[in-house]
Amino acid sequence: MSPKPFIIPIFIPHMGCPHRCVFCNQTSITGRTDQTLSPEQVRARITEFLGFKGGRRSPVEVAFYGGNFLGLPTSSRMSLLDEAQRFVEKGQVESIRFSTRPDTVTEASIEALDPYSIRVIEVGAQSMDDTVLRLSQRGHTAEDTRRSVEVLKCRGLRVGLQIMPGLPGDTSESILETGLRVAELKPDFVRIYPTIVVTKTLLEKWYHAGRFKPLSLPDAVELTKKLYLLFQARGISVIRMGLQASSSLLEPGSIVAGPFHPAFGHLVHSAVFLDLAARELQSQQGLSKSVGLRVCPRDVPRLVGLKRSNIKQLIQRFCLEDLQVLPDPAVPENKVKVENPLKRVCC
Ligand code: SF4
Repeated sequence: MSPKPFIIPIFIPHMGCPHRCVFCNQTSITGRTDQTLSPEQVRARITEFLGFKGGRRSPVEVAFYGGNFLGLPTSSRMSLLDEAQRFVEKGQVESIRFSTRPDTVTEASIEALDPYSIRVIEVGAQSMDDTVLRLSQRGHTAEDTRRSVEVLKCRGLRVGLQIMPGLPGDTSESILETGLRVAELKPDFVRIYPTIVVTKTLLEKWYHAGRFKPLSLPDAVELTKKLYLLFQARGISVIRMGLQASSSLLEPGSIVAGPFHPAFGHLVHSAVFLDLAARELQSQQGLSKSVGLRVCPRDVPRLVGLKRSNIKQLIQRFCLEDLQVLPDPAVPENKVKVENPLKRVCC
């Protein structure tokens, strides 16, 4: 497995956007209010982050996030890339990545990137349902996403797709259908951001007017779990679930409604492990009152769940008196082995 990159995020809130999508307020999400970015600011940001990196050996990537990178005027796009590329030439940065809208990806826009060390492009698909895309005022179609992935892959770029379950018009069926259609495109990775109502968006107005109802947190966890398992089964990495709890997003009033949780990804992983453990316990013949669940050490918090919620549920469901979680490096990741009955270690 390649080492996790050290990412230097450079936010370009709403820069290059043709309009505001109904759910989007990048100022609240990224904490940046200014909508301009000079090459000097890029240089300062990269230099600052390289100072934080210290002696770590992970590859360094400069990432432009929070706007529509390929929608920037050509001259400003090139001047930002030129600045980042200088660090690549000096051997301080390995590569550059950015996020963009599907309808900005064309043969010509990607060919223009040839002089730069761009390895990864993330595309904001959001949904593969054209009705959902129209209601969310995205201004592109699912076909634009399909075609953008084709163009990027033909150029040998790594592709990430971002999706937002729970947009206006979404149903459980359309969310899972989006997952299937995204998986068919075989992206290198996906990010899943269940839709939340952020302040100063059209969605906030619709929410207050009763025109939009976000997913509940349990429903968002359940649907994201299904999407996660769907991608996992096809070998597609899910690198993020739920919005990052930035300080600006956590400010009172930033989130109006919706399934936000600062540990959303952990909730999803815990839900996956609850199902795994329940299945393993179910399959036991003659279940004792005291059992152990062996997992690889990394998976212990996922199996236990927040505030031991999984343990409490399993004890109740299987009428157990004692349920111990046993870290065991011999158990592969994402697996649970039952110790039935629990072996007591006597001193
Ligand atoms: S979702 Fe993307 S394209 Fe839409 S307003 Fe936000 S940054 Fe711009």
